[in-house]
Amino acid sequence: MSSEVKPVESYVETPQTLAELRAGITSGATKAADLAAGYYERIAAVNPRLNVYLSLTKERALEQAARVDELAAKGEVPGVLAGIPVGIKDVLVMRGAPATAGSKILQGYHPPYDATSVARLEAAGAVLLGKLNCDEFAMGSSNENSAYGPVRNPVDAERVPGGSSGGWAAAVAANMAVATLGSDTGGSIRQPASFCGVVGVLPTYGRVSRYGLIAFASSLDRVGPLAANVRDAATILGVIAGHDPKDATSSAAAVIDYAAESDKGVERLRIGAPAEYFAEGLDPEVRGCSEEGISALEAEGCTVKPVALPHTKYAIPTYYLVATAEASANLARFDGVRYGYRSADSETLAAMYAHSRDQGFGAEVKRRILLGTYALSAGYYDAYYLKAQQVRRLLAKEYLRAFAEVDAIVTPTAPTAPFKLGEKTGDPLAMYLADIYTVTASLAGICGVTVPCGKTSAGLPVGMQVLARHFDEGTAFRVARGVERAGIL
Ligand code: GLN
Repeated sequence: MSSEVKPVESYVETPQTLAELRAGITSGATKAADLAAGYYERIAAVNPRLNVYLSLTKERALEQAARVDELAAKGEVPGVLAGIPVGIKDVLVMRGAPATAGSKILQGYHPPYDATSVARLEAAGAVLLGKLNCDEFAMGSSNENSAYGPVRNPVDAERVPGGSSGGWAAAVAANMAVATLGSDTGGSIRQPASFCGVVGVLPTYGRVSRYGLIAFASSLDRVGPLAANVRDAATILGVIAGHDPKDATSSAAAVIDYAAESDKGVERLRIGAPAEYFAEGLDPEVRGCSEEGISALEAEGCTVKPVALPHTKYAIPTYYLVATAEASANLARFDGVRYGYRSADSETLAAMYAHSRDQGFGAEVKRRILLGTYALSAGYYDAYYLKAQQVRRLLAKEYLRAFAEVDAIVTPTAPTAPFKLGEKTGDPLAMYLADIYTVTASLAGICGVTVPCGKTSAGLPVGMQVLARHFDEGTAFRVARGVERAGIL
């Protein structure tokens, strides 16, 4: 580190929020260039241990930081995220930067364009530090399916950071970025946020453009932010949300000031606690933390009542049919011709397709392509895929019924605290069960926020999931702030 570059710790003494950092940068007291350089120093020191970043986009980051500093020096306000160092999950594309989606099959692929969410961050002044490790094609719950090695949990390096966005959550928890952008198909934003003790946002389906997100299951995929506190996460959602002509499923619903909305208290909000989420299989310590979160909301003036979500028990099989069916179609494009990796040892075109896919995809991705192809095949479509779509509809209706009675629903995010590396890799079904509390909201299209609500006796983080109606992110943020204010960390 050059002598002028302050160590990154000097910027992160508490309280240090996104708004405070930005104020320092716009006033010129903090240089965006120093901040970025400080973060790169930190990444260089910590990354070998945690394997969080797959690639760095230093040139682009430093150019942007210089631009921000120049604007600030002229007294011009360089955007809501002026100079804020942000990491990007490697399923979102950035012009000219490697985009691997954690897979060998994309090795060497450099997309020529930016994802809309990434472009919006940069337009608001954010400094894009690099690309974050994740499970291959975002398939996994522990980040152990990455072709580039697992990410380690910054809280306990023998444990997983959650998945598929392990790098995304670990980056903020280990202060290797102020905030990050990731994706959630069945829990990949919420579960790693819970495992690493940070705040993750699942926006309503259609709230944030999917343009430039490498597809896993298109009817479930969402892009969302992660930060160290709820207000920062709300600010970032405000930047990336909104209609995008490049994504036909993106919504034209108005984007509100989520950060301001999150400032409103929770008094008189009605909170639902579904018994199905506090049943067998829930670790007692996680239950204890979740109940403490609920008590904190009651103490702030919320009324808490039970709600019934009886179809929850079908959510895992439903999700793993819909998600694998869509994945099998989306991943058909990786043929050894158009992107990245190509097998060298093939004599015919058909063999080249087969070898490239065999060598390029990992075991979990292949398992899902097989499952999905099977569920969509002529003889089984009605029994599996169609049935799963019907159950999906029931799950969505059930949520709407519950939201007629309550403003938000709170549940644990995952049934356990972060588990040990290797603990579940031999048993895919045990791994799939880690998603039991997150896949229902994915199937229903509703929004949510995961917020820390305590720690186990071993000091492992536990996060609470706050769910709200479609396009009611504001209420989810308010409730999450209520849990955060209680400070039960
Ligand atoms: N763990 C879930 C899966 O493996 C969810 C992943 C995700 O949300 N991308 O499919």
